Amino acid sequence: MDRKDILNRLRNLKEIPVLIVGAGINGAGLYRELSLQGIPTLMIDKNDFSSGASSASSRMIHGGLRYLENNEVQLVKESLLERNRLMLNAAHYVRPLPTTIPIFSWFSGSWSSLPKFFGKKSKNVGRGALIVKLGLSLYDYYTRNQRILPTHKFTSRKKALAKRPGLNPAIVGTATYYDAWISYPERLCLELIKDTSLKDGTSLAINYMSLEACNYDSVVIKDSISGEYLSVKPKVVVNATGAWIDITNKALGKKSQFIGGTKGSHLVIDNKELTRATQGQMLFYENEDGRICILFPFQGKVLVGSTDIKIDNPEEAICNEDEVVYMLNAVKQILPNIEISNSDIVFQFCGVRPLPNSNTNVTAQISRDHSIEVIPSSDNNKFPIYNLVGGKWTTFRAFSEKTADEILTFLNFSRRMNTCDVSIGGGKNFPKNETERSNWLDKMQNQTGLSLRELEKLLERYGTEAEAVCSFMVKDNNQPLDFHPDYTLREIMYLIENEYVVHLDDLILRRTTIALKGELTYSLLKEIGGIIGKLNRWSKNKLEEELKRTVELLRLKHNLKLK
Ligand SMILES: Cc1cc2nc3c(=O)[nH]c(=O)nc-3n(C[C@H](O)[C@H](O)[C@H](O)COP(=O)(O)OP(=O)(O)OC[C@H]3O[C@@H](n4cnc5c(N)ncnc54)[C@H](O)[C@@H]3O)c2cc1C
Repeated sequence: MDRKDILNRLRNLKEIPVLIVGAGINGAGLYRELSLQGIPTLMIDKNDFSSGASSASSRMIHGGLRYLENNEVQLVKESLLERNRLMLNAAHYVRPLPTTIPIFSWFSGSWSSLPKFFGKKSKNVGRGALIVKLGLSLYDYYTRNQRILPTHKFTSRKKALAKRPGLNPAIVGTATYYDAWISYPERLCLELIKDTSLKDGTSLAINYMSLEACNYDSVVIKDSISGEYLSVKPKVVVNATGAWIDITNKALGKKSQFIGGTKGSHLVIDNKELTRATQGQMLFYENEDGRICILFPFQGKVLVGSTDIKIDNPEEAICNEDEVVYMLNAVKQILPNIEISNSDIVFQFCGVRPLPNSNTNVTAQISRDHSIEVIPSSDNNKFPIYNLVGGKWTTFRAFSEKTADEILTFLNFSRRMNTCDVSIGGGKNFPKNETERSNWLDKMQNQTGLSLRELEKLLERYGTEAEAVCSFMVKDNNQPLDFHPDYTLREIMYLIENEYVVHLDDLILRRTTIALKGELTYSLLKEIGGIIGKLNRWSKNKLEEELKRTVELLRLKHNLKLK
């Protein structure tokens, strides 16, 4: 179904059991969960799918070692379980991430971390070997029954410096443990939506459609492309608008104060010395203020993060210069001799964590757990509003499951199945080992005649969804893009025709990692714009507008000036 078909369906859709507002990972997870239980669901997003916090995370799929300090043991246990599930269900994008912690003392931090573990407020100071050992031992203990990653180990100062000569020589040693990372969160979120739409003809998802108002038993939504207003009658509304939750409730005529968002920024750095210093691992380290920062190798570059600053209006979230200085200073503390210049920063991004409202000044101490806040039906709204507050990328499935159970009870439906072991998108039948991988490559080479190199790249990009991409690519004349030969014309056409692409920036920011990896030039933007323009029959003016919109967005939100 293309956008025209979806809009036609929407115009005729008078009633729907569930309307989900917001298609970040929490909305998309619930959309899949409910549709699999046979509940027709409509999901809308005022922008593109996964364009909020869900595309601005640190890309860690993790238990959250740091949350142990805040005594969030349940959250850590749930996150570790979900991390392990994602490594199996989305093996094409979620992979192990060895993580090394440089340690600067033996005992410091014990007197601040331990009281926090027991629920007392305390300031963060350097975490010494003892407290790190305690945290990592608990981490290993919680995964003892489903061990799919190695346990932690300590390395002496001498050996650690021999392995990474660039590390600050003031260390007393390092500790290494395992978590996971996700290469394409934007695509995994989209895959949840695509899987559902393929399986279930009664559920609908549409981007660039915003919630505007509530008229007792109906909700007014607006197509931001055409300006058309539509109306639907839901039995339940789910407010999954993350940092926008209270703003959305206001549009629904309800006052709430559920969210106290904090913005977080990241840098993508192209610096050979820094890449070498990672040794293929994440470095997990403290800044001077006690905040944990991270850096890890990311698709040939290094991802560095992050900040954690209270913010009221999510629309104003951008990575500012102070944050860049903060993150680069933090890197200096562990890798003092590596020179990183501003021109090494090829991309930057910022998002707002939809954290629960809290009056603490120490943002790191605000809970990262999720909760469902229900606004009951009333004289103004016939339907209850389920608000999805907080949550981590890692735990989206568990959060969706819990929310779906509450909604199923409300609608008087029983659960048909659970999603614990359901593979997502290109994670279905993803090769589990080298033999399966080479069988897949052989099979695809016979079917398509594409080179091994090309097939390996497509498997990495799309998982087994590459099978559909490849057959589309070889159906007609194909050629590499002039300004990015790693992509081909028909690959880009496949994304446009099958992946809800509306604007040019959807393609370069979320369907591909072209912008994120710092590979975008103005010539490439024009070339890709020309492909969408031709397929969508854009006028010359419309194409100019799209180019202008993208250039402006990249300048404002990502500090990227295209050459
Ligand atoms: C800096 C940072 C680092 C993070 N790092 C990690 C990490 O490493 N690991 C991890 O597990 N988690 C991490 N997280 C947390 C995780 O990314 C978020 O908790 C999660 O993405 C929240 O998803 P969401 O769907 O609730 O919100 P969002 O992804 O923000 O989605 C909300 C959606 O609602 C839409 N919307 C708003 N208003 C309307 C309206 N009126 N009508 C229709 N749609 C509307 C928006 O366009 C948006 O797409 C991080 C978050 C941030 C910001």
